[in-house]
Amino acid sequence: MRGTRMTTIWLTGLPSSGKTTLAKALAGHLHRPTQVLDGDEVRRELFRELGFDEQSRRENIRRVGWMARMVGQHGVLVLVPVIAPYRDARAQVRAAHEAVGQRFAEVYVDATLSACVERDVKGLYARRTKGMTGVDAVYEPPLEPDLHLRTDRSTVAECVDSLVNLVAALDLRELNGAVR
Ligand code: ADP
Repeated sequence: MRGTRMTTIWLTGLPSSGKTTLAKALAGHLHRPTQVLDGDEVRRELFRELGFDEQSRRENIRRVGWMARMVGQHGVLVLVPVIAPYRDARAQVRAAHEAVGQRFAEVYVDATLSACVERDVKGLYARRTKGMTGVDAVYEPPLEPDLHLRTDRSTVAECVDSLVNLVAALDLRELNGAVR
């Protein structure tokens, strides 16, 4: 199988920045087997015991990263809309992928905190939830993302176009035999 074989695309960003919207929209655009591992769904269905302290968040990222590798090794393109606030934890997931020849692309789904607070899709900002990423819990933005989207300046359709281009670029890199 060719194309974005064994690839995970991780969409990281603040709550309400647009990660889930874009992952699901991208999956709908691609004519290939694609699996979205949504952070909220995975926590609710599988990792309910994990909280939002740093150790639990790191464990959540590690487990979701492992799941992405397991699913991805069967040729399914894996899209992961998960906040994953820690730069080093994301780097560890990348390293774990690359160690077994799977590719990891990091997409920074970026919107200002005020734009995210205004959207507040899940009402978390309004409830002043403790440990809110970007408010009283750290968010470390990617320094060199594979793609940087400004969802407060671009439409969903424009962002999906950029993601489709990223997938196409990953396909080309694979065909050329490049690792990253
Ligand atoms: P997250 O998964 O990051 O918490 P969601 O995808 O659930 O965020 O919510 C993002 C909200 O922002 C949605 O209501 C979506 O319609 C809106 N939105 C506006 N512009 C964009 C864009 N360019 N990309 C993604 N979402 C956008």
